[in-house]
Amino acid sequence: MTDSFHPPVRTLMGPGPSDVNPRILEALSRPTIGHLDPAFIRMMDELKGLLQYAFRTNNDLTIPVSAPGSAGMECVFTNLVEPGDKVIICQNGVFGGRMQENVERCGGTAIMVIDDFGKPVDLDKTEAALKQHPDAIALAFVHSETSTGVRSDAEALCRLANVHDCLAIVDAVTTLAGIQLEVDEWGIDAIYSGTQKCLSCVPGLSPVSFSARAADRIKHRRHKVQSWFLDTNLVMGYWGADAKRSYHHTAPVNSLYALHESLVILQEEGLEKSWQRHRQNHLALVAGLESLGLGFVVEESSRLPQLNAVSFPESIDDGAVRAALLEQYSLEIGAGLGALAGKVWRIGLMGYASNRKNVNFCISGLGNVLNAQGHSCDVSQAVAKAEATYS
Ligand SMILES: *Cc1c(COP(=O)(O)O)cnc(C)c1O
Repeated sequence: MTDSFHPPVRTLMGPGPSDVNPRILEALSRPTIGHLDPAFIRMMDELKGLLQYAFRTNNDLTIPVSAPGSAGMECVFTNLVEPGDKVIICQNGVFGGRMQENVERCGGTAIMVIDDFGKPVDLDKTEAALKQHPDAIALAFVHSETSTGVRSDAEALCRLANVHDCLAIVDAVTTLAGIQLEVDEWGIDAIYSGTQKCLSCVPGLSPVSFSARAADRIKHRRHKVQSWFLDTNLVMGYWGADAKRSYHHTAPVNSLYALHESLVILQEEGLEKSWQRHRQNHLALVAGLESLGLGFVVEESSRLPQLNAVSFPESIDDGAVRAALLEQYSLEIGAGLGALAGKVWRIGLMGYASNRKNVNFCISGLGNVLNAQGHSCDVSQAVAKAEATYS
């Protein structure tokens, strides 16, 4: 006989998933009803409105894809890119590389604008690529590069895309609810996010939104969307306001209750307050970790508050520190990814996990582990430095 699975209770301060608010876990356990039940359809309509609030958009085509952030990415590219289309992709981390994969698998051509890991997307290089490729149909970039903790200037990049008559495609998986994002005001045409980062919801859903211009392009495609499951022309038969709400696939009913609850919580706090909270806790973490003698990979002006790429002296054993934190403190922080593997820790302060208690806990846990492994540091001073930023 196999026993029931009871996961350990962790504090999740990595690149996602983040700690889930207990209110959301409670919502998840409410009774399952049919995905065509009138009560469920009413909840779906509220959910669309809540997503429009979080994205700051009036786009009709704003829905959660029934799969994780990577599927939101596929949804955007597979619907917008047809064979032969050219898309300019700015890559400054791991996730930009996945955009290239997506475009090429759709039969498109990816024109890459490459920046170093840890640097924001360069606007001049991007503009040069747009001028050099006037036939490109879209410009795509990652707003919050979770692999490096860098924020790129989404507003300026979207302006460039619009000036050059390109659709602006934005990865906002780690952005949503963590830092400012203005879908309509910035002229974003297609955007996807995830539930398990700054929304602090369970993993497995991907909110997406398409502008009227993008939706029009999808309606008038020359070829059918290659993915049946992600074809928004079909999905909207279930999600669309004017649709007959017919069966497409069985919606992940309980996960959608959870997303609804997480967005209600976001609305209660207020979007701007949520951005401020992420920033305040980030500043406290920076003060404490610098006091421990640790560094930050990203220049101050483009650091993400919700994902901190922290550098450490070469003498420190990366894996041993993370293992000790997990074993002794039940605290998860992230390892480096791609070009930064083994060189940084990625400390997330996302959503529900972005709070003063966690900042304090992470600084003291990390400081104690470093001391135990022979890297002397003053833990109480570091905690005091962090605490001082709150007053
Ligand atoms: C996490 C993440 C993804 C992928 O999301 P999944 O839910 O893991 O599929 C895509 N882009 C960025 C920037 C991310 O941080």
